[in-house]
Amino acid sequence: MEPLIKFENVCYTYTGNDAEPGMFAVHDLSLEIKEGEFVAILGHNGSGKSTTAKLMNMILAPNSGDIYVEGNKITGRELTDEDVFEVRKKIGMVFQNPDNQIVATIVEEDVAFGPENLGVPSQEIRKRVDEALDIVGMREYARHAPHKLSGGQKQRVAIAGVIAMKPKCIIFDESTAMLDPMGRKEVMNTIRRLNKEGMTVILITHYMNEAVLADRVIVMKSGEIYEQGDPKDVFCNVERLWEAGLEVPQTTELIFKLNKKFGWEIPLGVYDFDTCARLVTEKIKEVRGENVGN
Ligand code: ADP
Ligand code: MG
Repeated sequence: MEPLIKFENVCYTYTGNDAEPGMFAVHDLSLEIKEGEFVAILGHNGSGKSTTAKLMNMILAPNSGDIYVEGNKITGRELTDEDVFEVRKKIGMVFQNPDNQIVATIVEEDVAFGPENLGVPSQEIRKRVDEALDIVGMREYARHAPHKLSGGQKQRVAIAGVIAMKPKCIIFDESTAMLDPMGRKEVMNTIRRLNKEGMTVILITHYMNEAVLADRVIVMKSGEIYEQGDPKDVFCNVERLWEAGLEVPQTTELIFKLNKKFGWEIPLGVYDFDTCARLVTEKIKEVRGENVGN
C-alpha cells in the first residue's frame, strides 16, 4: 500500500522580511508516514517541525523535491484549489493555541464549521458533529460558549472540528503546549483513542512523555532528520539526543545517570515512574545484598 504521506528530498526556504536569506527551514527531507501510524516529531525550536507540517497539508509548497499523498504527487505542477481542498480533507491540522482555532460562539457550530466548508449536506453535518463531540468527550457541552471552556476543553472542541471533516490523518502541532497538565492529559487521551480507532496521527511535541507513546519518533535538527525509529531505541541514545539539545524522558535520564555512575545496566527504555522506581530499588537491594554477602 502507498504511504499516506511521502516526502522525497523536500527543501523549503522562507522568503519575506523575517526570513534569513539562504537558510533552509527544511532541507533534503525524505520521509514516509503510513496509514494508521502514530508518529511523533521532536526537535529544538526552529528545527523545521512546523514547516514540515505545513508542507504536509499544503499550507506551504516546497522549493524543490516532491510530496505524495496516497501516492498522488501534489508538487511539481500548477495546483488548483480543488487539489488543495482534496489534501486538506485528508490531512487535518490542530494548532497550538485553541483560542485562535475557535470560530463560532457555540461549540456545535464551531465543530460544524469545517464540514460546512466542505459542502457536506446538513443532515450529515448534524451526525458528524455529534459523533465528533462524542469522540472528544464534549457532547454535553454542545450548546455551550467555547470561550468559557478550559484550555483542554477548547482544544478538544478544535479537535472535534477537524474530526468532523473525516480526515485520514491529523497533525497536532504542539497542541498540548499551552495547556495545564490536566488539559494535556485530556488531549493526549483523545489523541491516543483516535489512533487506536485507525486515525493516522502526527504529533509534534516537546514533551518526551507524549513522544514515547508513538509507534515511531522522528527527531529533527536544522531542517533535517537527525534520528528516527522506535521511541525505545531513539531515547536509549541519550548522549546523541543531548548533543542535539534535546531532553530524554525523565526516567531514562535518571537510569542513564545511575548506570553511568555505578556501572549498572538497568534498561533505559522505561517510561513509567513506578517501573523505574521498582527497577532502581531492586538494583539497590541487589547491590546491598552482594555487599552483605561479601
Ligand atoms: P519549529 O516548528 O521546529 O520550531 P519552524 O518550522 O517553525 O521550526 O522553523 C524552521 C526555520 O524556519 C526556523 O529557522 C524559523 O526561524 C524559520 N521560519 C519559520 N517560520 C518563518 C516565517 N514565517 N518566516 C521566516 N522564517 C521562518
Ligand atoms: Mg513549530
